[in-house]
Amino acid sequence: DDSEVENIMQDPHHHGGHGNHHHHGHEPHDASDREAEGEDRPHTPSYLRPPVAGMAQSDSGSDPSLSQSRSVEFDLSSLVSPSRPKSPWGLFDPYNNNEDQDKEYVGFATLPNQVHRKSVKKGFDFTLMVAGESGLGKSTLVNSLFLTDLYKDRKLLNAEERITQTVEITKHTVDIEEKGVKLKLTIVDTPGFGDAVNNTECWKSVADYIDQQFEQYFRDESGLNRKNIQDNRVHCCLYFISPFGHGLRPLDVEFMKALHEKVNIVPVLAKADTLTPSEVKKKKIKIREEIEQYGIKIYQFPDCDSDEDEDFKQQDLELKESIPFAVIGSNTVVEAKGKRVRGRLYPWGIVEVENSAHCDFVKLRNMLVRTHMQDLKDVTRETHYENYRAQCIQSMTRMVVKERNRNKLTRESGTDFPIPVVPGVTDETEKLIREKDEEVRHPDLFKLCLKSTHIMFSEADNE
Ligand code: GDP
Repeated sequence: DDSEVENIMQDPHHHGGHGNHHHHGHEPHDASDREAEGEDRPHTPSYLRPPVAGMAQSDSGSDPSLSQSRSVEFDLSSLVSPSRPKSPWGLFDPYNNNEDQDKEYVGFATLPNQVHRKSVKKGFDFTLMVAGESGLGKSTLVNSLFLTDLYKDRKLLNAEERITQTVEITKHTVDIEEKGVKLKLTIVDTPGFGDAVNNTECWKSVADYIDQQFEQYFRDESGLNRKNIQDNRVHCCLYFISPFGHGLRPLDVEFMKALHEKVNIVPVLAKADTLTPSEVKKKKIKIREEIEQYGIKIYQFPDCDSDEDEDFKQQDLELKESIPFAVIGSNTVVEAKGKRVRGRLYPWGIVEVENSAHCDFVKLRNMLVRTHMQDLKDVTRETHYENYRAQCIQSMTRMVVKERNRNKLTRESGTDFPIPVVPGVTDETEKLIREKDEEVRHPDLFKLCLKSTHIMFSEADNE
């Protein structure tokens, strides 16, 4: 585009023809006028001609004494007139249509593009947890989902080792890139879950892990340097339900109930290829009923806006009815109908992971990646983390009040201003908090601090 514009400006024929025309009079040009003008200028592509309204404006604004080339420049700039801004970063240009030609714009319809550019530059991150008994195909499914081998150095334990094993939490991170968009994907696995002889409270270490990530974030967020906070909060937990049971097992109920306020739980029906289609259907209904009956709050897909189109609404409904997603995982590529696909080869046929007639794999992947990744992150931040934070602040305040009351008995001073104290923080933080507390108790000291800070700043200014 730029080179086109330059060419036109160096074209003497163009200058003359156009300039003359421009200074002819102060009558606004009409469409037929422009047609005629177009014939004068064979080198100007039609899309580069200024719109009628633009011409009228430039006519009234230009000084007839200006040189010809100057007037051409002015005309060309009216192509990208201030009333019709352009998105500076290509992509979808909100001003790039011919409606409302004569409307004045400020330009803030480019805001989404600005956000887009910034977030692409920064990259995205997503933390997915997989939980459920071992052997249900968790690692196979994760590899199938993200087309990577996330479990290269996994060590499987034998039966004896598993008896006493406690649930261990492992983290794998990969950086993947697709079409210039970078995603830092973290998979949190829970090997050993449900493996021991006694599995009561084996959800506890998983719950603790999630809380620890919240706590870390809370501390970082309340600290001094908030620029480079590592966010390890878990955005979604795929919970694997065995296809061999009759609906949910007690462990499943216990796990989901213990975690549903901490993380977005998405239940999946594992190894769906071991069930017939009608078994899958029945199991799904049973599991959905049980989820309801036990008051388990799994991740809720946000409601469709009423102005969405019918296709979208239908898709949304189908998604909600797919819970729990019946999934099949495979690490091998097989040949089916001449195509190479991820699948499982059986003596009686091939089951294809990405075939929606065989399972809900594609639906799950679309939900996780294409349609709901941002919502999962938003709900984590706005609901689960917010809950944690509120609880934290509440217990901190309670502690402070208790401390105050105890202090009041010994010395009759203090403020009513609650100073939060984080339970179980390091000695160093505690010392800092105590110091802050002292400052508030001694307003003079506090003022002195403020004053010295002020002096420091003004000195820096003078320099
Ligand atoms: P994890 O312990 O939950 O991570 O389970 P793995 O992914 O290691 O899988 C355990 C076994 O189940 C392996 O032999 C897999 O090949 C097999 N497997 C994984 N996914 C499926 C599936 O969808 N269907 C069937 N039938 N077997 C599967």
